[in-house]
Amino acid sequence: MSSIEVNGRRYRRPEQKTAVFCLDGVDPRYIDDAFERNLVPRLRELTEQGADIRGRSQLPSFTNPNNLSIVTGAPPSVHGVPGNHYLAPSGDEVQLTDPAVLRAPTIHAVFEEEEVSVLAVTTKDKLRRLLGSGHVPCVSAEKAGELHMAAIGPIARLVSRPVPSIYDWEISHYALELGLALAEPLEVELLYVSLTDFVQHSAAPGEELSDAYLRRLDNLVGRYLDTGWRLGLVADHGMNAKPEIRFLGDALAEGGVGSARVVLPITDPYVAHHAALGSACWVHVDEAELEQARDALAAVTGVEEVLTKEQAASSLSLPADRIGDLVVLADARTALGKTEAEHDLSALHGPLRSHGGRHEQEVPLLLSEPPAPFEGEVSNADIHWLLLGEAA
Ligand SMILES: [Zn+2]
Repeated sequence: MSSIEVNGRRYRRPEQKTAVFCLDGVDPRYIDDAFERNLVPRLRELTEQGADIRGRSQLPSFTNPNNLSIVTGAPPSVHGVPGNHYLAPSGDEVQLTDPAVLRAPTIHAVFEEEEVSVLAVTTKDKLRRLLGSGHVPCVSAEKAGELHMAAIGPIARLVSRPVPSIYDWEISHYALELGLALAEPLEVELLYVSLTDFVQHSAAPGEELSDAYLRRLDNLVGRYLDTGWRLGLVADHGMNAKPEIRFLGDALAEGGVGSARVVLPITDPYVAHHAALGSACWVHVDEAELEQARDALAAVTGVEEVLTKEQAASSLSLPADRIGDLVVLADARTALGKTEAEHDLSALHGPLRSHGGRHEQEVPLLLSEPPAPFEGEVSNADIHWLLLGEAA
């Protein structure tokens, strides 16, 4: 077997152990600022040997759709996951965490079938079942204290410190330590580690917490490089301060639209990160009120675009059956909510920083080796191809 086809692209079997890290919410400005202040010498060294490329996330710039694009090498229209959360055909809002929602195999699942040893480690447990789709061994840092693997036993015993809580700034680093510790006994050839953006939701580039996070990250990247790993680092999305919050449920009610239902695809169990407020949302509305709803939404300060389902599906490569009748995107400073009464802003740790729209679409792609040849703009879905892609 010389190469393996996954979702229309050909990948080489890794000839050297290879890892991709999803640096959740690490906007390129964190990297640029850290490079300027010589905060991350191992990351700098990595890009000097390899590459420092800027690319795009998928829209909406949320965690689950972008993680799935990274591991499938394909847009949400192919893998079927346009948000963290959606309005199911049953009429209930549900989390998109069940592997049954996936419409394309992951690179790891196809490689596993071809007897490449793969492993996925996610910080947030919400991604564990999706990343484990197929027969990919997948563990989470969040639940590491409860997880066992047949060849290992209790996994937490491999890391010499207690499992941090999901709101501990070092839990992303714990996931990287877990990846390194499990990869050796499992003889992993292709590893994926997905971090969490709690620090980036809380701290801007240059703030003390962010610096501490990046220094620890740099140290761990050094440990991977020193033990012979080839690395690709990419973000799922960027991050911006969002001092303005617009409640679209209230705006629709004031505009006399009775049938609308606002669904926030950022919604997940980690409310202290963002209180379910991001810069993209779905609005489900009866056909008879569609134009009226569109006008009411377009009049909201901070709303930049209101797309119909068909426009959004084709221009943003989204699965039409899992988005709203209208797709709303906000500007860099604005987050979108349901009604004011439905959000508990007291859950936030400090002022709101969030993502979801076009202004959080720029992401870093850092590689420890020169990339496979590419033309035009890259996205985070290209990271495995840049490391393992077979030129045509
Ligand atoms: Zn994220």
